[in-house]
Amino acid sequence: MDSSVSPAAKTHDGPAASPSIADDSLELIVPCYNEEESLKPFYEAIVKVRTQLRSTLSLILVDDGSNDKTMDIMRDLAEQGPHVHCISLSRNFGKEAAMYAGFCRAAKSHASYYGVIDVDLQDPPELIPKMIATIHESGCDSVAAYRFTRKGERRIRSFCASLFYKLLRRLSSIEVVEGARDFRIMNRRMFDAVVSLSERVRFTKGIFQWVGFDTRWIGYENVERERGESKWSFRALVSYALEGVISFTEAPMRTMVAVGLSMAGASALILLIMLIYALTMGTAINTLACIIFIVALFAGLQIFCLGIVGLYVAQTYTEARARPVFIIKEEH
Ligand code: UDP
Ligand code: MG
Repeated sequence: MDSSVSPAAKTHDGPAASPSIADDSLELIVPCYNEEESLKPFYEAIVKVRTQLRSTLSLILVDDGSNDKTMDIMRDLAEQGPHVHCISLSRNFGKEAAMYAGFCRAAKSHASYYGVIDVDLQDPPELIPKMIATIHESGCDSVAAYRFTRKGERRIRSFCASLFYKLLRRLSSIEVVEGARDFRIMNRRMFDAVVSLSERVRFTKGIFQWVGFDTRWIGYENVERERGESKWSFRALVSYALEGVISFTEAPMRTMVAVGLSMAGASALILLIMLIYALTMGTAINTLACIIFIVALFAGLQIFCLGIVGLYVAQTYTEARARPVFIIKEEH
C-alpha cells in the first residue's frame, strides 16, 4: 500500500484546474439527517452566497438515511440545476460517515476548493466568501471556523465540550481548537490528504489537524439552530469524544504503564523498608500493612501489564488504520 500522499498539484493554490473550470470553483459537502425544515433555507442562503462569488459553488448533499422528506427536497434541488448533486445513504450511518461519503464523491470532481458545512445554518454560509478571500490573500491551505462563544447552548454541554478539547490537546499531539466546527474550506492538496485517511472510526476534526498544512481560523458567535433539532444525544457525544481520544492518542495506555509501575515500585520499596526495619529492630512485621502492600504490589504489576498489552493493541490499531506515514506538502 502506498504510504505517502503526494500533493495533487505543484502550485500553492491547489490543483491545476482544467480550462473549463473556474479558477476557484468550490465543492461544498453537506451532511443531512432529517433536515426537511432546514434544507430549503440553507439552499436559499447558498444561492445568496453564490452571487458574491466569482467562482462556481457546487453542493454535494448527503442524505444520511433520513426518514422524513429530506431526500425528496434534495431531489427537487438537484433537478433545478447542475450545481446540486445528492446522494442518499442506505441508513443512518452518522455525520462522520456522511461527510466521508461526500468527500469520496467530491474527490471525483476537479474543483480548486472543497468544503464541509452543516445544513442547519449553525455554520453561517455568509462566511464562505471571507474564507475563500482568506485563502487567496494568505496563500494558506485551509480556512476553518470556530465558535468563540457558546451562547444559547446548554451549560452542561459547553462545559463537557470544553473539558474534552482541553483533554484532547493535553493527551494528544493534535491541536483541536476549542469551539472548532467541521465547517472548513481547503485546497485540493489538503483535501486529498484528508480523503487518503480512510479509517473506519472517523474523527474528522482530528483528521483535519493530523494531516497538517497551513490552516487559518475565523471565529464567529454561536448561532442557535432555528429549525429541526440537534441530532446529538448526550450518549452520542460521549461516544464521539471517546472515539476522538482513542483515534488520536495512546496516552491512557502510557498512563497505565506509568501508574502501574509506580504503584508496584512504591509497594515493593515500602515492603523492603518494613522488612529491614523488622530485622534490624527485632520487631514483628505489621501483618495488615504487609498484606495491603503485597496486594498493592500485585495490583500495580497487573495495571502495568494491562498498559503494555494496551500499547500492543494500540500499535495494531495504528497499523490497521494504515494512515500515510508522511504527507508531502510541496515538491519542486
Ligand atoms: N447529521 C448527519 N447524520 C447524523 C447526525 C447529524 O448527517 O447522524 C448532520 C445534520 O443533518 C447536520 C450536521 O450533521 O447537518 C450537524 O448535526 P447537528 O446540528 O445535529 O449537530 P450539532 O450542531 O448539534 O453539533
Ligand atoms: Mg447543528
